[in-house]
Amino acid sequence: MANKKQWRGKTILHVDINSFYSSCEEIKNPSLKGKPHAVIMTPQDSNNITKGAVTTCSYEAKKFGIKSAMPLYKALELCPNLILHAVDKKFYEKISNEVMEILEDYADIFEQASIDEAYLDCTNKISTTDLMVGEYAQEIKKSIKEKCGGLLTSIGIAPTKSVAKIASDYQKPDGLTIIHFNELKNFLNPLDVEAISGIGIKTQNILKEQMNIKTIGQLSNTDVQILIERFGKKVGTWMWQVANGLDNEPVLPRRNHISLSNESTLEFITYDKEIIKQSLYELIDELYERIKNNKYQFRTVGIKLMRTDFSVETREKSYIKYQYERKSIESLIEELLDKFNLEDNNLVIPSRNITKKFLPIRKVGLKVSNLIAIEKSNKDNEYKQMTLLDYC
Ligand SMILES: [Mg+2]
Repeated sequence: MANKKQWRGKTILHVDINSFYSSCEEIKNPSLKGKPHAVIMTPQDSNNITKGAVTTCSYEAKKFGIKSAMPLYKALELCPNLILHAVDKKFYEKISNEVMEILEDYADIFEQASIDEAYLDCTNKISTTDLMVGEYAQEIKKSIKEKCGGLLTSIGIAPTKSVAKIASDYQKPDGLTIIHFNELKNFLNPLDVEAISGIGIKTQNILKEQMNIKTIGQLSNTDVQILIERFGKKVGTWMWQVANGLDNEPVLPRRNHISLSNESTLEFITYDKEIIKQSLYELIDELYERIKNNKYQFRTVGIKLMRTDFSVETREKSYIKYQYERKSIESLIEELLDKFNLEDNNLVIPSRNITKKFLPIRKVGLKVSNLIAIEKSNKDNEYKQMTLLDYC
């Protein structure tokens, strides 16, 4: 692994959660671990699945040759004992949000790409730590594994988004692939053109069958004019740049319905509500700035207090409608703080013969969640939710 001082260009991470849906099922039911099981897209419920198609399956099921998009009858031919679950999108989204929340803390700019993938531009964050890029990524992997029920991730690191994405796909599960600026060409050249995310089956066929371009190396050596003639200016230029490691598409701040937070360690530990309240007020400006920059509205405001034994307590409150004003955060702080025990006293639970001492506070945090990305329409001043399609 090279020293981070030798790193050139941006540090972009692509994080992919391995076998996401099936791994979520293992979180829900740990006895599934080590067994062949699959999540099925089906209108039926989990107890009675007779038709549908595989969305994701466990690694044990993959060993039988089961793949995504395979019809259920075929999967059962390959593995008659396959354990089946119906898609539980709500649960997967909950777990996804937990992962994304962790990932966001590691990024200067965070872009959620799908329920189980995200891009992180970590250029500044890494340059201000002592960690090398690989160690930084290992820390992310470890944090997700520990805090999210053992989920495994594959991470690709590169100076461009497209190569980071290819790199995360390079080793699965639990992979880490780091491509330095001067290794870009050597890494890309031997790969099949289909490794480039965004080159679909149709384009692949044209490249391979009609133009005899099979590898990314061959694509990079093709005259860009020929690609433009064939695929149009935008697509032709794009695929040539990606093949040469030259695309500079930025990581765009994007995420839906998760949270933004800000926290600080108090100068001294305290029970004093006024001091704690003041420290929370001081967190609003930066948090609000990020809400505005990301064009978000929020419904929920939360407070987190850490006691001196590092235990964390949270309280939150949700508005019925989405909010976008600073005062919507500020006005809830006092009310939320009242829900914590900030007395220097003991709580006695006689039935369990326990006396619990409330420890003083050492750290405070402020969070807004239930976010939507908004676009202000000039005409009617209405806000609409931004969907993935708006970005594509
Ligand atoms: Mg995945």
